[in-house]
Amino acid sequence: MPAKGQHRKPRSLNSLTRVCIAAGTGGVALALPLVTVGHASAAEPAKASAAVSAKAQYTVAPGDTLSKIATAHHVKGGWKALYKANEKVIGTNPSLIRPGLHLTLNTAPVKAAPAPAKKAAPAPAKKAAPAAAKKAVSSSGYTKPVGDAAIGTPYHAQGSNWSSGYHTGVDFLVWSGTPVHSVAAGTVIHAGADGSYGNDVIIRHADGKYTLYGHLTNPVVSVGQTVTAGQEIGISGATGNVTGPHLHFEVRTTPDYGSDIDPVAYLAAHGVTI
Ligand SMILES: [Zn+2]
Repeated sequence: MPAKGQHRKPRSLNSLTRVCIAAGTGGVALALPLVTVGHASAAEPAKASAAVSAKAQYTVAPGDTLSKIATAHHVKGGWKALYKANEKVIGTNPSLIRPGLHLTLNTAPVKAAPAPAKKAAPAPAKKAAPAAAKKAVSSSGYTKPVGDAAIGTPYHAQGSNWSSGYHTGVDFLVWSGTPVHSVAAGTVIHAGADGSYGNDVIIRHADGKYTLYGHLTNPVVSVGQTVTAGQEIGISGATGNVTGPHLHFEVRTTPDYGSDIDPVAYLAAHGVTI
């Protein structure tokens, strides 16, 4: 899939259709207004309603997911119903929604009464409820750096773009403005400009490994700060040496360039499958 020698460039930005969807995660607190830097005030989680017209139409914005839209607009039946109602325009994969798509927020067949409150809810309670706003963290305390984003350039792709001769991390295709999370608890050892990585955040973890999150629009943590698994540490972007927005995720055995190890294998070893 990833073109040889092609670095950091999401396959084709124009048709970059995926959005980090989190179907089951009810990404309530995850991502709000794209440009809001840092703290999404927990007090008012649904700010995105500007795009809704009187006729319950919504235009997909970069960074949107069905679950996010459904949550923000209190769509009856949640993202599944939203998908159902818009299946024709979305297509067969609910995780692929393109900015600019017009969705109807009308999921309820006209006559459906909001009645059978009792049994209607099929109890997703166990899985999704209490910690729904948080990212899913594996039993070993690890999670993904971004939602279910596709991978662009994989680890160790060969190319002249890199001083080491190969790609030292893995690229996740996300639009600028996507919240980026620490994959595990740790301490921030760098946050800010870092050469071709643009603005990045580097975190030291208890196992002695380091994770790096590159090309951020900006970090939302600072050096010395401790973070938890899944904590938002920055906003994705396209700073540094890039041809398009994405998250460059790298795992190292030291704080320095060249000590990288396979980031996907690292996550997998901690129960997180990309
Ligand atoms: Zn990269």
